[in-house]
Amino acid sequence: MTVNVDQPVPGTDAGVPAPAEPSTTLRRVETRAPREEADDAATATGRIEIRNLSAYYGSFRAVRDVSMHIQPHAVTAIIGPSGCGKSTFLRALNRMHELIPDARIEGELLLDGINLYDPAVDPVQLRRVVGMVFQRPNPFPTMSIYDNVVAGLRLVGRQPKAQLDETVERCLTSAALWDEVKDKLRQSGTSLSGGQQQRLCIARALAVDPEVLLMDEPASALDPVATLRVEELIHELRVNYTIIIVTHNMQQAARVSDQTAFFSMGEDRAGYLVEYNATTTIFTNPSDQLTEDYVSGRFG
Ligand code: ADP
Repeated sequence: MTVNVDQPVPGTDAGVPAPAEPSTTLRRVETRAPREEADDAATATGRIEIRNLSAYYGSFRAVRDVSMHIQPHAVTAIIGPSGCGKSTFLRALNRMHELIPDARIEGELLLDGINLYDPAVDPVQLRRVVGMVFQRPNPFPTMSIYDNVVAGLRLVGRQPKAQLDETVERCLTSAALWDEVKDKLRQSGTSLSGGQQQRLCIARALAVDPEVLLMDEPASALDPVATLRVEELIHELRVNYTIIIVTHNMQQAARVSDQTAFFSMGEDRAGYLVEYNATTTIFTNPSDQLTEDYVSGRFG
């Protein structure tokens, strides 16, 4: 199905006003059936193609010439030493990079064949389809658990309460939080533990019906138990969403991801893609010495 992108709906906290006359449409999945056995990769939506992507802050190139296909309905981990452009790369994928003054990209980024940097694409709508979960859980502090989940939906317009109730239960269930909060939905989102807050933020991202979830070190502020919980959740969510996760934790990348991209930094300090392959290959039989040094802990 297609959906018109002329409605200003923030897909993340970083919403910006919609351009005057957006006309390009982004494909959406209306009803998602759980993935059967092997693959529906040929038909799945949430397929990202990155062509010669470079990202700049002013004249400084932070990411250099990255080309890759992101598998739909799978988890792709981005690993590499600090400062090699992992977060910058992630933010370029839902056009949050351009919110930084003087920041820009070169190259092409396609989601299900649509160029996300086409002037006709509304970045606000895009950030709904390509949602983002940040390092620190950031529920809206003045809102209840319930209101946090439906915050994005309410911006689209009034919805019947029964529909909002259904969305809250569905998204909190998908985020593995429903059983823990169903009796206290009116309590503040910030009354929850850090791990619960992060799952609440994931529920909030799910409520606006994304295709893709970008996660920037989503568990790095959490304790080991909460981390495991979020990792399990990521693993489950990949059935229905394309997930890209930046992590400095290689065990985490090995545990949660299907594919891994290893980034490194050139002498010009620009990050670039060294190697991209199935996670098991990257961790057990990488083809590049740089990758081998990094995953074996000899570097970075
Ligand atoms: P990583 O996520 O791999 O640690 P980042 O994407 O955060 O790397 O940063 C890549 C490079 O871009 C670094 O040199 C960093 O200093 C620079 N950088 C990141 N954010 C900004 C910014 N807002 N303004 C200017 N330079 C930035």
